[in-house]
Amino acid sequence: MKSKVWLSSPHLGGNELKYIKEAFAANWVAPLGPNVDGFEQDLELFLNEDVKVAALSAGTAALHLALIECDVTHGDEVICQSMTFSASANPIVYLGAVPVFIDSEKDTWNMCPVALKEAIEDRISKGKKPKAIIVVNLYGMPAKMDEILSIAAEYDIPLIEDAAESLGSRYKGKACGTFGRFGILSFNGNKIITTSGGGALVCHSQEDKEQAVFLSTQARDDAPHYQHSQIGYNYRMSNISAGIGRGQMEVLDERVEGRRKMHSFYSEICKNIEGVKIFSEPDSDFYSNHWLSVITIDDTKTKLSKNYEDLRLAFLKEDIESRPIWKPMHLQPIFKDAPYYGGKVAETLFGNSLCLPSGSNLSEDERARIAKVMLDVFSNKKEYSVMP
Ligand SMILES: *Cc1c(COP(=O)(O)O)cnc(C)c1O
Repeated sequence: MKSKVWLSSPHLGGNELKYIKEAFAANWVAPLGPNVDGFEQDLELFLNEDVKVAALSAGTAALHLALIECDVTHGDEVICQSMTFSASANPIVYLGAVPVFIDSEKDTWNMCPVALKEAIEDRISKGKKPKAIIVVNLYGMPAKMDEILSIAAEYDIPLIEDAAESLGSRYKGKACGTFGRFGILSFNGNKIITTSGGGALVCHSQEDKEQAVFLSTQARDDAPHYQHSQIGYNYRMSNISAGIGRGQMEVLDERVEGRRKMHSFYSEICKNIEGVKIFSEPDSDFYSNHWLSVITIDDTKTKLSKNYEDLRLAFLKEDIESRPIWKPMHLQPIFKDAPYYGGKVAETLFGNSLCLPSGSNLSEDERARIAKVMLDVFSNKKEYSVMP
């Protein structure tokens, strides 16, 4: 029987167990220890921008703490890219603040700088200046950082970069996750590297990092007894998870290469099919890790009837996972009353784009199965050879 082809599954490197065994041997089975420190150092070295990293239990936790450190509180407004995973927006609501959603632009599918500026000016004219801006690098694609950073600076609003999907991506040579006042990373099982579950907050000062560690370990004041003058959280990363992370950091460059190869594989398949595009960098300023490869289908130009649906169902029949892209937050029932700025770019992309199996661990056999389905669906008889 053929095995299921996953969209994005964990791809271990080999040394993860070594670090876990060290943790067991030294009895560091706790949310602190040498692997936590080591993993943070590995990330700081990789990001290479003089950053300080706090390893946490999830990317969502990192966003929550980033918002707290930006002083977001009840009744505030926070600007957030609409096309993203719900975890980008949920922490705004945890704090009793209100998300204000922004449309995408067509080049990177990320936050549209024009709509961002319009939103800030309109919110200010209504009497409320947004407290923070959350920009996302969707599927690994860097957002238009120069434009967005300059707007954030013009209005003096802190930027939080949700780089959960973009570890290993770069904008003008600089690592994603290092652009804003804070960056957040995720090591969930489906991300480019995993700690089974986990995340990190990328800071630009030791004080910001120490504050994140303080809040993530129940906000204990410096006293022999348990003393608290702030609300704390249990968000620190376990030393066992961090051991997995250290093993994964040894192969991160290979994982980026593997994902980018999947992107080339799909680009090659689709290059002569009319009405079909693989989501790609607009120019050489952008370097995506291509965490997920995404196909956009214009059914007025293909013989398909419902954009991606024929392809999705054909994959399903062959036990190959594919998924529509994130449904924009402003179209989600839970956020139907939230303010929204922009047009229909995100909505249109949602209607015609499908995420394709993108793991760095897909075999040649699995890639051949994927290619066959795609070529059958687009009834393209072009000779095709499996790429290395
Ligand atoms: C995965 C993801 C998150 C959340 O990270 P977790 O580690 O799963 O909490 C946040 N934002 C985006 C864009 C993500 O893809």
